[in-house]
Amino acid sequence: MHLGCHLSVGRGFDKAVERAHELGAENLQYFPKNPRSFRLKAVDREACERASRAAREEGFLSVAHSPYVTNLSTPDEELAGITVASIANDLEIAEAYGSPYVVVHCGRHMGQGEEAGIRRMVELLDRIHEHYGGPAKLLLENTAGQGTELGTRFQELAEIRSRLAEPERAGYCVDTCHAFAAGVLDFRHWDRFLEEIQRDGFLDSVGLFHLNDSRFEAGSHRDRHAKLGQGAIGKENLTRFLAEPLFQEIPFILETPVADEAEYGQEMRFAREWVASART
Ligand SMILES: [Zn+2]
Ligand SMILES: [Zn+2]
Repeated sequence: MHLGCHLSVGRGFDKAVERAHELGAENLQYFPKNPRSFRLKAVDREACERASRAAREEGFLSVAHSPYVTNLSTPDEELAGITVASIANDLEIAEAYGSPYVVVHCGRHMGQGEEAGIRRMVELLDRIHEHYGGPAKLLLENTAGQGTELGTRFQELAEIRSRLAEPERAGYCVDTCHAFAAGVLDFRHWDRFLEEIQRDGFLDSVGLFHLNDSRFEAGSHRDRHAKLGQGAIGKENLTRFLAEPLFQEIPFILETPVADEAEYGQEMRFAREWVASART
């Protein structure tokens, strides 16, 4: 089990890696730029490489999470152009820090309907790949299905990926809170869930899990994270997820609502204890 958390790089990437070590995180996720802004960030490759040298040397995994303001399925051409430029910029920043992945949320179809939304998302992902030719990979994250969000079902994510001009340049990120709220992750039918996530080799392209409890009930389609063991998923179910033999090589990253990053340290300690006691 490889457990880590989302940390701020506001005081520098190197400081975030140090912080991760203090907290006992084995990997970290960060926002490559302000998550609420469209502004692109100039990439100072040398400075990024310097700040991430320690992480590279020890093989410490970092992943970037793209800002929330973009919409990969937007019918609006101006927002589409901004979305493409912004995510291509995130890929460049991730590459400069030595991060293999950029997590992106699936698009919102805004009333165009699912098929049109999927077509648009495929088009914009292809445009991003035309802009950016480096090694960093996009991970398409499953959603809770709030409003017109696409990508609640694994099959739909697989469909989007298979329609890309270069499918091998994208993988998946599975968020436990989103899957639970979408009704996809049903702990009463664990075997069925495992079957679903392995169908057509889906699991082989899952680059990471977001490990979050959910404030709202299964099938609520509401995306509100809760601290581990304090939501509707609960300790027992989260332990089962963490201990699943099929998932042991895939990193888990916490994005729980903490007031202070130090709280992640405690949550990760609890999670490790839960799994250890479930195994004895
Ligand atoms: Zn997530
Ligand atoms: Zn979420």
